[in-house]
Amino acid sequence: MNKSTIRVLVLDDEPFMLKLLGHMLADLGFTSATTHDNGATALECFDTHANPPNLILLDLQMPEMDGIEFVRKLVEHNYTGNLILVSGEDERVLQMAEKLIQAHWITVLGHLDKPVLLARLTELMEKSVHMHAAPQSTTHAYGADELRTAIDAGELVNYYQPKVAVPTGAIVGVETLVRWRHPVDGSVFPDQFIGIAEDHGLIDDLTRVVLKGAMAQSKAWQQAGLRLRVAVNVSMDNLSSVAFADFVAGAATAAGVTPQDIVLELTESRLMLDQRAPLEVLTRLRLKRFRLSIDDFGTGHSSLTQLRNIPFDELKIDQSFVRGAWHDDTARAIYDASLNLGKQLGMTVVAEGVEDRDDWDFVRRTQCDMAQGFFIGRPMPAADLPGWIELWNARTQQWQADLP
Ligand code: C2E
Ligand code: MG
Ligand code: MG
Repeated sequence: MNKSTIRVLVLDDEPFMLKLLGHMLADLGFTSATTHDNGATALECFDTHANPPNLILLDLQMPEMDGIEFVRKLVEHNYTGNLILVSGEDERVLQMAEKLIQAHWITVLGHLDKPVLLARLTELMEKSVHMHAAPQSTTHAYGADELRTAIDAGELVNYYQPKVAVPTGAIVGVETLVRWRHPVDGSVFPDQFIGIAEDHGLIDDLTRVVLKGAMAQSKAWQQAGLRLRVAVNVSMDNLSSVAFADFVAGAATAAGVTPQDIVLELTESRLMLDQRAPLEVLTRLRLKRFRLSIDDFGTGHSSLTQLRNIPFDELKIDQSFVRGAWHDDTARAIYDASLNLGKQLGMTVVAEGVEDRDDWDFVRRTQCDMAQGFFIGRPMPAADLPGWIELWNARTQQWQADLP
């Protein structure tokens, strides 16, 4: 895919901005760009063209139809392309606008501050080329029967993502992330089938398969001289049956792993504390010395109450407050508050979503215990882990050597 397949529409009420952006885009090789100074004429492009624009550079502040209203109209025109915000508004307003637009299923690639910098425009335009070139992930809705067959046929496979100690970089554990090796669609990600499993009473079977596989793998690593804490994601629905605690304990005994080496990650937004069964299951698991982790911390509504009621060992700060927190004051404030809270309650704090060197350097400047993210290592099949450890050790040693 090349630049000529990106059909850009620029909408801004300032003629100077239109001219400037038009020139910059042409210089970058984006030859198919149209400019408009008001929303009404811009919308006509989506009525009349056989090939409507697939990338919009949008000013928020405009006298007649503002950017937000324009987006609402775009949705009525079934727009499915990408969008870049161009605005002089402050960071928080821009973020709110991005969220609002994303809620309409339009992908916001980022925002350009005014005055527009060529380097930033280049970066965002490259991202747009990338997005168009990326194979569309299947958004096929799977049926419950298909999923049941897949679970029974062993089509679910565990991937493992490293969790490392921040001060030393040493690997401490892994998080198990399930993938569906679909015979036709290839690798299917959990967001496309966990919900189906929960809605159709399949989540117990799914979790059991994942957990057993993870425990067997933990034992195999241990026998190879690698002692890792292995985390498994547990759905809130798994906790509605009091038998779950006994299942987990039985599986650990059968696999020959100690509960202290098993971490159960719970997504906060799914915790329902007014139910007695989950509380009983969690309390019993804790008494058996399994480690409990509160996942995606900061995204739910009742996080503080949950922390009071359940004795979690670990708190995972959600990736949205980690990624880019080094330059985002709001994310940073939430990150700091979560970290302090976790520390004061004596929990191990994990930063999720460490995506690049800037994120890693940021996390290293804080008192965070552990980190996880694409910069450190992507989720991988168990067989790839030893090779990854070697590479990661070499990378961290290099950084130590680079220190003044
Ligand atoms: P999670 O538990 O919060 O897992 C972290 C997710 O973030 C994973 O997505 C992981 O691949 C992704 N991730 C890790 N590092 C980065 C990063 O640096 N940048 C970005 N952008 N993403 C990163 P994945 O594997 O698609 O899993 C999504 C969610 O599905 C998980 O979120 C978890 O809630 C759920 N899930 C996965 N496996 C299972 C399972 O076996 N059982 C249940 N109940 N849920 C599962
Ligand atoms: Mg998790
Ligand atoms: Mg998470």
